[in-house]
Amino acid sequence: MVSGVEPKPKLAIFDFTDCEGCEVALVSLREKLLDLAGEIEIVNWRLAQRRADEGPYDVVLIEGTPITQEEIDTLKFLREQTKILVGLGSCATLAGIPGIIDKESRGFWYKKIYGEKYKPRGIDALPLTAYVKVNYLIHGCPVEKKEVVRVMEELLAGKAPKPRGYSVCFECKLAGNPCRLLAKKICLGPITQGGCGAICISGGSPCYGCFGLRDSAQIDNLLHTLYKFSDSPEVEQYFSMFLKKTPEYARLFKRPRVKNGKT
Ligand code: SF4
Ligand code: SF4
Ligand code: SF4
Repeated sequence: MVSGVEPKPKLAIFDFTDCEGCEVALVSLREKLLDLAGEIEIVNWRLAQRRADEGPYDVVLIEGTPITQEEIDTLKFLREQTKILVGLGSCATLAGIPGIIDKESRGFWYKKIYGEKYKPRGIDALPLTAYVKVNYLIHGCPVEKKEVVRVMEELLAGKAPKPRGYSVCFECKLAGNPCRLLAKKICLGPITQGGCGAICISGGSPCYGCFGLRDSAQIDNLLHTLYKFSDSPEVEQYFSMFLKKTPEYARLFKRPRVKNGKT
């Protein structure tokens, strides 16, 4: 006999290389997470529960970035196992903090920390989109809880969530902050997707772009302004915090390597 009760969509949450701060943000959603749990069934979440069902799933959230072949294979497997795949946090969506370190400096630090005999397995951190199709990216380091709820509710309603169409500057102005650029201080707010409420600027820090580039970001215009009071290495440092693995970063800052006097 068919009960007539629709099964709830199955949600699973996995993580690769990261600090798990975005999953902690999920846990701290508390009542809101329980509300969502009324509409979905969380069937696999290592950090928060014992239940660990195998797929297939309806929605998979992935925090972190894969940096070993094993993790890349797992990511591809999870892609096959789910209808909707969502990147959770800037490590997943942009390669974020793990993406700062490049191959050369990684080799140096491996030797320094683990010794000459250590055989590294890690490769360059890249966003999830470098390996699989991702249905939605929830940026942020960590993610903004309201943004997670918005995206989940829209996904559960069968909609395709859209990124915010405005920059961090819009929220910064709403928060009443004086503009850092006018004080000759670097800030990536004009090119960064809104959604965080300009939390860093309100707290006295610059925007480093952890919400990713907004649509039609006028990067060259911002650089034109920044270079009036700062030099290229300093500006590059700000961009490299979260945007190092974007094509825009490569276009702006990656110089051809010089070998034996030739490029
Ligand atoms: S995006 Fe930031 S808070 Fe989230 S897992 Fe990565 S480093 Fe941690
Ligand atoms: S401080 Fe940064 S985010 Fe705020 S208005 Fe100025 S450039 Fe935009
Ligand atoms: S202000 Fe910029 S760096 Fe800070 S949370 Fe917002 S997007 Fe991220």
